[in-house]
Amino acid sequence: MNKFADFMLDEDLRDVRDLAREFSDKEIAPIALEMDRNHEFPEGMFEKLGELGLLGTRVPEEYGGLGMGVLSGVLVLEELARNSCSLAISVQSHIDIGMGPLIRHATEEQKQMILPGAVEGKNILSFALTEPQSGSDAGGTITHAVLEGDEWVINGSKSWITNAGDAKYYLVACKTDREAKGSKGISLILVPSDAPGFEVGAKEVKMSVRASSTGQLFFSDCRVPKENLVGELHRGLPIFLEGLDEGRVMVSAFSIGGAQGALERAVRYAKERFAFGKPITAFQGVSFKIAEMAQKVEIARCMCYNVAKLADAGLPFSREAAMCKLYATEMADEVCRDAIQILGANGISEEYDVERFYRDVKMMTIGEGTSEINKMVISRFVLDEY
Ligand SMILES: Cc1cc2nc3c(=O)[nH]c(=O)nc-3n(C[C@H](O)[C@H](O)[C@H](O)COP(=O)(O)OP(=O)(O)OC[C@H]3O[C@@H](n4cnc5c(N)ncnc54)[C@H](O)[C@@H]3O)c2cc1C
Repeated sequence: MNKFADFMLDEDLRDVRDLAREFSDKEIAPIALEMDRNHEFPEGMFEKLGELGLLGTRVPEEYGGLGMGVLSGVLVLEELARNSCSLAISVQSHIDIGMGPLIRHATEEQKQMILPGAVEGKNILSFALTEPQSGSDAGGTITHAVLEGDEWVINGSKSWITNAGDAKYYLVACKTDREAKGSKGISLILVPSDAPGFEVGAKEVKMSVRASSTGQLFFSDCRVPKENLVGELHRGLPIFLEGLDEGRVMVSAFSIGGAQGALERAVRYAKERFAFGKPITAFQGVSFKIAEMAQKVEIARCMCYNVAKLADAGLPFSREAAMCKLYATEMADEVCRDAIQILGANGISEEYDVERFYRDVKMMTIGEGTSEINKMVISRFVLDEY
């Protein structure tokens, strides 16, 4: 299975993939549907992942991680998503958009304070940019922070924030220069969950990734020490954008995992389901669909691992990350829809656990740049090339 992919992985990466796969199959598969129904993970889920080292594959060794590259994160998320896209998105917010900017831009003191606990799954992280009035357009950020003496005073709100309520630290995009136009003058400020003036709103009740907490954050004269600025003042957006390419690779990874999960379930079902005296796999209407689904998943996987390798080689990969995200997320939507068709009526039954994947992968065409935004990015590159 997955010869294309195995060929691209060295022994260390295969070990990470196998460990994540074993955990996903043994610990997550049996409870994934229940997590979706209950809209939450069981207590201690992040700590379990931390104990196995799966949260720190990309964190430098001096902070307790394995010091591996982007591809290691891709493999972890893909395997988690094969059974639970909810868990994959929460882990992505923690290890990628949460830890990524800290690894690259935090001060030594900030890193020592947060990263070892984040690797252990004790300090859960969250990244907050989106606001009720602005998603794709970060220039619409209204939440602002003003320096008063030794403290930042933050006012505003954020919406659709993953790990809301679960996180111990929130990396919050705040306008720090209110005169600056558009997306300029934004900084990243670290807000601990117990900061005065900070509150988490109700969880979103949503179609996709139900077990992952997504919610609103409120800042009402919220005060944090001035040392909680992460990276350069007013340079928060470039920090976010530099991480966005990686984020797109990571969302591709859990789209591939989600599609693979639906494919596996559809194949198992098709082999056992009989119609007109034959297993339904005997009908080309079904077997050709399975062939196309498997091929699409492999194409996306090859793209995704290649883009991760570009990132790990330190080469530019914005164009490729946007292409990969667009292809992998739309592919997952198609593959999960076809999986439902193969199961017939049972496909839309909660019990058969394919409709969960269909619901879950839909959000992937929205987060980390919608499909339309990624088409904009790709077309800008291509129009410049010829
Ligand atoms: C499950 C989930 C988890 C999330 N987690 C986080 C998180 O942890 N942190 C965070 O900050 N955000 C998070 N988000 C928010 C996410 O980043 C935004 O939803 C996304 O950026 C899109 O913004 P929007 O939903 O406001 O849509 P809008 O920006 O309002 O877009 C609406 C529609 O208009 C289209 N559109 C907008 N601009 C253009 C354009 N220029 N050209 C063509 N079409 C355009 C879009 O493609 C879309 O179809 C999450 C979202 C979801 C669904």
